[in-house]
Amino acid sequence: ATPTAVMVATGKGASLGVLIKGGNALEKAHKVKTIVFDKTGTLTVGKPVVVSAVLFSSFSMEEFCDMTTAAEANSEHPLAKAVVEYAKRLRQKFGPQTEQMTDIKEFEVHPGAGVSGKVGDKLVLVGNKRLMQDSSVPVSPEVENHIAETENLARTCVLVAINGKVAGAFAVTDPVKPEAGRVISFLHSMDISTVMMTGDNWATATAIAKEVGIKEVYAETDPLGKAERIKNLQMKGMTVAMVGDGINDSPALVAADVGMAIGAGTDVAIEAADIVLIKSNLEDVITALDLSRKTMSRIR
Ligand code: ADP
Ligand code: MG
Repeated sequence: ATPTAVMVATGKGASLGVLIKGGNALEKAHKVKTIVFDKTGTLTVGKPVVVSAVLFSSFSMEEFCDMTTAAEANSEHPLAKAVVEYAKRLRQKFGPQTEQMTDIKEFEVHPGAGVSGKVGDKLVLVGNKRLMQDSSVPVSPEVENHIAETENLARTCVLVAINGKVAGAFAVTDPVKPEAGRVISFLHSMDISTVMMTGDNWATATAIAKEVGIKEVYAETDPLGKAERIKNLQMKGMTVAMVGDGINDSPALVAADVGMAIGAGTDVAIEAADIVLIKSNLEDVITALDLSRKTMSRIR
């Protein structure tokens, strides 16, 4: 496209809440045949809420809540915010939490898996089954069953281990964005195929994909795995767009022919993307493709 056409489309985009960072993305977007969507915060609202908690072993509810809060209070992950809110509220039923109980040392983030640290002399892990396995924490059949039941309801099971034992779990739901299903079916009618990619587990991923109408799903994928998948699709000769919101999406946003970041997403994702959907509304994926089509047809 000519610099003028790009300027016009960029201006039009800006007025619609679609920030286009350059002519290159605009020129490629109309050729997109496959769009890969991240799940959490992209297809879903990204504001998860805890719906229930269970205790497994001989730990007290106070200890379970305190350890969880101490570990998750340091995490930026939306799941962590939901868990902290719930654990604090639950804790209040048993009396106030003391200062020492919130103090964490050796805090570590395990991307796509959870967090860990030391509270007093206790080692705390909060995250998914993979985090437990990677840390050699045994996952009993009872816990295994609970995970399956939770995930089959499209809920994420957040496990808490204290000193090498699974102490309890939270069930978290993250509702699908109201426009998601409509946008996916519209893309299909444009002959664009859709894919979901997520670090979350297969059961939750499959349930959410079904809800929005996406048939191709890759779950339990780490950030570099997401980028790898994009490259595989490109090797089949497809022009691929990626829509994501998280730090964990940024390698994939860079790898894609057109990276689109959700405006409410993390700064890292916004920087990695070619296009920013300021309103965080998935309808604007179509707005972006439209702008590209119109710009390119004007010059052809
Ligand atoms: P997505 O790709 O869906 O945005 P992430 O890659 O950020 O998800 O995380 C993948 C999974 O890792 C989560 O679904 C959760 O099970 C686990 N996880 C990551 N961070 C945390 C955390 N701070 N607390 C609990 N679980 C976490
Ligand atoms: Mg995300």
